[in-house]
Order: sequence, then C-alpha cells, then structure tokens
Amino acid sequence: MLNLVLFGPPGAGKGTQSAHLIEKYQLVHLSTGDILRSEVAAQTALGLEAKKLMDAGTLVPDAVVIGMISSKIDANPKAKGFIFDGFPRTIAQAEALDTLLQQKETAISMMLALEVDNEELTKRLLLRGKDSGRPDDSNEEIIKNRINEYNTKTAPLKSYYTGQGKFSAVPGIGSIETIFASLANAIDAITV
Ligand code: AMP
Repeated sequence: MLNLVLFGPPGAGKGTQSAHLIEKYQLVHLSTGDILRSEVAAQTALGLEAKKLMDAGTLVPDAVVIGMISSKIDANPKAKGFIFDGFPRTIAQAEALDTLLQQKETAISMMLALEVDNEELTKRLLLRGKDSGRPDDSNEEIIKNRINEYNTKTAPLKSYYTGQGKFSAVPGIGSIETIFASLANAIDAITV
C-alpha cells in the first residue's frame, strides 16, 4: 500500500495537491478537516462541539480525530492506499496512526511536506476566506492562532517522521503543476 501523509501549515495547498495525488495514485483521501466540517454541517453532537474549537482555530481533541480516522480506515478495506490530509497534527495522533496501520499490517510510506512562508500563508488564507466562506479563514487573529497551533503542536511531526526516515520536503510556492510534479517525483523515488 501507498500511505502518504501530506504535511504543511494551513494554506500550504494540501487540499489542492491531494486532489491531484488521489487521481494519479488511486488513493483514498482522508481529510480530518473535511470530515469535521461535514459533522458541523450535519449538526451532530460531535460537530457542534468541534465547531467552537474550529472557529477559534484551535485543534480538536486527539481522541476525536483518531476515532474518526480509525473508522474511515475500517470503512475502506479494499483501498490501495490512503492520503492523510490535515492528520496527524500532533505526536499523539502520529503514534495512534502508526498503531492503526500496524493492525492492518501496513504503515506510512512517507510524509510529504509543502513548505510555504508565514506571510504568503496569511495572504492565501485571507483570499480563500473571501471565496470559501470558512469562518476560520476570514479573520487574521484566527489565522494567526491556526499557524501558532501548527508551529507548536504539528511542526514537531517533522522530527517524528525524519526519525523514521520518511520525511520529504517540497517547495509549496509556484504553479500547482510544478508543485505536483515535485510531489510525484518524491513519491516515485520510493515506489520504483
Ligand atoms: P483543516 O481544514 O485541516 O485546516 O482543519 C480545520 C480545523 O479542523 C482545524 O483548525 C482544527 O480545528 C480542526 N482539525 C482538523 N484536523 C484536525 C486534527 N488532525 N487534529 C485536531 N484538529 C483538527
């Protein structure tokens, strides 16, 4: 199986690149942000609880997202592989993911990091907020909090996957096609 973790701060382009990667490599796309947003839209108990944190740009508890990912992995027994987008976001989530995949006799193949500087990220997120209507993209303070959450809780995952020899970084600035070509090169380097 090809199991990819797409890594990068909010606004790095993970969603856009995921769409291209699933098509080329026939992977199942699991985005915890998308799953949470559909829970919010359906007004489930989980969605109502998560909404407050999401609107503030704060991470929801590990147990919530780990449970969601676990059931999505179970729901796709025939998948050729998964692309994890916006998950894991903490070391505890990464450890839980390793355990879940081990139970399926598979593992993360690599973490692909999209690197974009903070100034460009804020610019992109404010622009996206105008179109997407996402409450967490529309306010500079909330965006700052999301980037701060990323730097304190998520950035340490770089060392986690480097320690496993699975970290690969790609510049996240340039055209969608150029960035995609760099990601595909990195993947093909481990699969051929
Ligand atoms: P995203 O669309 O990935 O930027 O996620 C939007 C929001 O959902 C985040 O700001 C968090 O509040 C929440 N969220 C998404 N994925 C996770 C995760 N893996 N762990 C904790 N919170 C998450």
